[in-house]
Amino acid sequence: MNPIDFISDTTATDVVDIGIVAILLYAMMAVLRRTNTSFVALGILFVGALYVVALTLGLRLTSYLLNTFFTVIFVALLIIFQDELRSFFSRLASTVLRRRRREQRLAFSSEIDRLADTLFDMAAKHIGAIVVIPGDDDIDRHLQRGTRLDGRLSDALLRSIFDPHSVGHDGAVILRGATVEKFACHLPLATNAAQLGDRGTRHAAALGLSERCDALCIVVSEERGVVSVAHQGVLTVMESRDALRERLDALSRAAEPKRAARIARDVLVRDWSLKLGAVALALPLWFLFVHESEIAYRTFDVPLQPTGLPPHLRVASVEPQSVRVVVTAPRRKFYFVTTADFQIGLRLFDARAGERVITLTASDAFLPDDVTFVNIIPRDIRVKIEPVAQAKPKPPEATPVTPPPAPVTNGEPPNAAP
Ligand code: ATP
Ligand code: MG
Repeated sequence: MNPIDFISDTTATDVVDIGIVAILLYAMMAVLRRTNTSFVALGILFVGALYVVALTLGLRLTSYLLNTFFTVIFVALLIIFQDELRSFFSRLASTVLRRRRREQRLAFSSEIDRLADTLFDMAAKHIGAIVVIPGDDDIDRHLQRGTRLDGRLSDALLRSIFDPHSVGHDGAVILRGATVEKFACHLPLATNAAQLGDRGTRHAAALGLSERCDALCIVVSEERGVVSVAHQGVLTVMESRDALRERLDALSRAAEPKRAARIARDVLVRDWSLKLGAVALALPLWFLFVHESEIAYRTFDVPLQPTGLPPHLRVASVEPQSVRVVVTAPRRKFYFVTTADFQIGLRLFDARAGERVITLTASDAFLPDDVTFVNIIPRDIRVKIEPVAQAKPKPPEATPVTPPPAPVTNGEPPNAAP
């Protein structure tokens, strides 16, 4: 197909269509990368490629089975990525929520210095603790037990909670802005144990929550007297108070509303290779499933095949000898269709010697699968039929014998003059 045609065929709606698919693909690829599940993508890509091949080659059983299989894959993906989907939809729906969270981060930012001091003092005294600073994702579904407090964050409050003699010192504290919302919460343990080394369940719990949502967890180790931060599934030791402060400052800065220029830069530049990949994938998908699925008309020049002529008659002439057959089908059905796949029968069952006009109808056309008949041009065919010539008398020296049997024309057009 001509690339110029292809571009002029593409409307603004198609561009929006491709854009939306590219964004969805990008989101999917970003999730796959973040969750280290690119093997899922490889599997889907393989099955998808097989499906495309089956579709273009017209392997009907394969494409039917794969079609069914896709439904199964879809359900499987929903299950594999339920956490991601959940946080995606809750983010979509939570613009109001996000504003409240932003206010909370602002309140939190005024507490950062004091919090860092308190936690490093506790570390020096080998008092274990976990402090959770939630991000945009909902964390309640990951928490077990826990006691509601809603008390103003202060040095004295944290020390009281994590005092080893206190009943509620086991577990994590959840902050909301400058408020301690809950204490003694149990967090889910990490699945990625490699990072933990010989650290125990407290660190596993902090890391576990950070793997499942965008919360940041600060861990104070009772055993080693160090402070670490678990965020986005990565556990990092904080070498100093200032390092912790910086980390927390960066967190509250990230929550500040972005300026338009920065949003634009993020949208266009960040992750550009993945974005380019998404567009590169969306284009052929669109081409195959939209552009090539559009109904197209094609004309084929098909020779006529006289059929059913009684043996004592032969076709002297057919005018015209071929007709143009107009058919319609989705564009990609025509990839492997040639004139040889068409037959137009010229029915001569009730023919008699002489000249006559036969009008072709749709039922005379034998078409490839999935191709729909539109027209035959011209429809009226002038046919001249004559009796099969008797054998001429042999030259005098030859003994006269019975005439040879009439050549079986059987619908084949004559290839020699009588
Ligand atoms: P530390 O360096 O302080 O010793 P650790 O990573 O070695 O920490 P453990 O020695 O196993 O961990 O610490 C156990 C403590 O961790 C428990 O007493 C409890 O306070 C806390 N903890 C254990 N599991 C959880 C959990 N699921 N959620 C929150 N806190 C937990
Ligand atoms: Mg320990």
